[in-house]
Formats: sequence, C-alpha cells, structure tokens
Amino acid sequence: MDDARSRHPGGYVLIEDDRIVAVGPPPAPPGLTAERRIDATGKVVLPGLVNTHHHLPQVLTRNVPRVQEAPLFRWLVELYEVWRHLDAEAVTAAARVGLGELLLTGCTTTTDHLYLFPKGQERFIDAEIRAARELGIRFQPTRGSMSRGKSQGGLPPDVVCQDEETILADSRRLIREYHDPRPRAMLRLALAPCAPFSVSEDLMRRTAELARDNGLRLHTHLAETKDEEDYCQATYGCRPVEFLRRLGWLGSDVWLAHCVHLSAEEIRLFAETGTGVAHCPSSNFRLGSGVSPVREMLDAGVPVGLGVDGSASNDSSNMLAEARQALLAHRSGRESSQWLTAEDVLWAATRGGARCLGRDELGSLEPGKAADLVMVDTRRLSYAGAGSDPLAALVFSPWPEPVDTVMVNGRILVEGGELAGVDVPRLVAQAESASAALLDAALRTTGVDYRRKDGLRS
Ligand SMILES: [Zn+2]
Repeated sequence: MDDARSRHPGGYVLIEDDRIVAVGPPPAPPGLTAERRIDATGKVVLPGLVNTHHHLPQVLTRNVPRVQEAPLFRWLVELYEVWRHLDAEAVTAAARVGLGELLLTGCTTTTDHLYLFPKGQERFIDAEIRAARELGIRFQPTRGSMSRGKSQGGLPPDVVCQDEETILADSRRLIREYHDPRPRAMLRLALAPCAPFSVSEDLMRRTAELARDNGLRLHTHLAETKDEEDYCQATYGCRPVEFLRRLGWLGSDVWLAHCVHLSAEEIRLFAETGTGVAHCPSSNFRLGSGVSPVREMLDAGVPVGLGVDGSASNDSSNMLAEARQALLAHRSGRESSQWLTAEDVLWAATRGGARCLGRDELGSLEPGKAADLVMVDTRRLSYAGAGSDPLAALVFSPWPEPVDTVMVNGRILVEGGELAGVDVPRLVAQAESASAALLDAALRTTGVDYRRKDGLRS
C-alpha cells in the first residue's frame, strides 16, 4: 500500500520500537540481528486496517427483533428508547467486544462515533478509551453530540440530548485530558455532531470552531437516506451537502459517514475540498439506504475509507467482511468497467481510512510508518486454491475466521488467531448480561418488548 503498491513475495519487514524501519524483497539485509523474528511463511503481511466509522455501544443491541425490518429513521426512534438506558459499565462491556472483533479481523486503528449521553451519563468516551487501552488498539474516538430533540423538531427524544454548553464543555475537557497530536499517537480525538436531524446549526458551527482551534478533525453522518434528504429540504431548504457547505463543514479536516445520496456536483465538491467519506456498505444494505457512489468518488479523487458502522446495523465489527461487502456492493447491475477491484477496496481499508482520520503515518508498510501490521495465514481452507493472488484472496474469499497475527504500535495483540491475554468468554458474558439489562429496562419504561417483532413488520 505504498504509492507504487509494491508487493514483496518472500520479503521482510523490520520493526524498531513503534516504527517500521525497513521493508523489502528478499533477502533481508545481511548481518541483521533481530530481538525477535517472526516467520511469515505461508502468510500475507499487510498494513493494519483502519475503521472509519462505528458506534461501539450498539454491540449490545445487535439484531434486536423489533427493528430487524426497520429502515433508518424508525430503527433510530425505536432504539433511542433502548440506548437511553446505557451506563458506563455497559459501554465498557460493548467496547471491549467490538474492539476485540476489530482486532481479530485485522483492524489496528479505529474511530468511534459516540453521540448519545443519557442524563447523568457524561463519561462514556472515557469508558471506551479505557477499553481501547486495555486491548491495545489505536483509537481515535469522536465526541459526538445531539442537541436537537423532539421538542425542537429533531428525531431523538429530549432525554438523550444535551444542551450546547454541556456538549462544548465536555468536548474541551476530553481534548485536555486525552488528545495527543504527536505522530503515531495511540489516542487522538475528533468532534462529531450526530446528523443534520439531531443537532442545531449553531452547534455545528461552534463545534467546527472548537475543533479547528485545537487541530482536531470533524465527523458526522451525511446523505445516508432519502428521509434525511427530505428532512433537510423541509427544515433547511437545501440538500444535506449544501447544508454542510453553508456551515463551513467541507474540507480536508472532515470525513463523513455514508454519503449514499450524492449528485455528481456534490462528488466534485468533496474532491475539490478534500472531504473524506466513510463507506459503510453492510449498514447501508441492512437498513435499505442504498449504494454509495464509491467508484465515482474514487475516480474523482475523494478520500474514501471503509467503516463497519454500529453493530446494530451491520451487525458485526468484521473489517475483512466489510471489505468484501464493498467489493460486491458496486458490481450488482453495473458495467464491469465501473466495478471496484480488490485493490481499490484494500486501498480504502488502509490508505483511504488513514487519510480520513488524518493519519499519514498509518495505512502502509513503509519506513517511518507506525508498526501496525496484520498477518493472514493463507494455509486455511478458505484460501486453499487462491494462491495465484493471495492478497486479493483476502477480499474475494474471506472466511469468518480470525487473522493470524496483529501488531499495533510494535506490540503483538493477536497471535495464532487469538486475542493475547484476553478472557473472551468473560467479555461475551458481560456483554450478554448488559444487553439483557438494556432490553429489560426498555420494556419497563416503554411497555414494548423489543425481543418480539410480531405485528410490527413495515
Ligand atoms: Zn453511524
């Protein structure tokens, strides 16, 4: 994933501390003595994948029966009533599971978009950060926000919204406590009002100001559904992209989730301004939102990354599965000249994602880059017979089995397909019990049994 897209069959990668110092074809430089040598025979070594969009707490509301057939707006309105019962312990349990899944599928850097803070619960991002530090993944969470509740014409109930002063004060606190601007930082923050239908214009403006004053990036959901387009037309008298443009929200320090419904002119505007896009095909399929014009965006030079999106609309944090979904999403019903290739998809999952997050030091195996890499053992059933192009096989033939080895910042976190030093059955049990508690609480407060879907099919 260097600019020449080099491949080095039988080659080597030399790591020193948290950096790559040399990469090349065989043989390794003579006289080289390494403290530790890892034999990669039969394995593909690639840069760690970068996930550009997620909502980790949604792990606890995967495939909830009541919303299995709901498109985005109804899905949200129903699930807000469940998510409002989240607490820091539940967020921690969910984050550990989601981050663990990401690592096992080759992701070494992830963001998270956490925008829902029920009254009295302001420390969710702190909880996620603790989970990321425990697991060792590189983390770039976003301080999300919702300020436009139902009473002000927004979609979410008021009880999960916060006022602007609270949001901005907490954003400042998080920047002070956690944001690390240094190259190869393990933790960096971004700011992310939720979507045009759940925040005020004033909050969008003030958030951009705060982010730019502190060198942070900006993120939000955009142009995900036709419903959102209708909402923007009715509320702001324009399309979602125009709404952002007016607010000064297009630029090379912004990346946007979804962007399914874009015109050719809007794609050109993204390319011109360097605005990035987090492409989340599984979620777009799951919620019936549509297919994002990724071929057109890549051809125009828009930085496109891949995102698994929240686990209530994917319902998984599997980066390799997402790469395959992206490969297939852009083929159905299109001329073959318009298809995405395995290389396009892997570029988006590495370099494209790194650009979205503003991390030039990630996304490729090159001297000076962060020591984030993944090894996939191709001697598994799913890859047998695919040896003519082992790299493309990772996209064409993924199997729900973990990658072999994952290194983040020079530390090995996955070895032999297992999360090193992590008690997985304990994480599963904690998430299951937190999930059950959420659905029970929602039943108590709304009288709705989210475990049932009878009579609710749209
Ligand atoms: Zn999302």
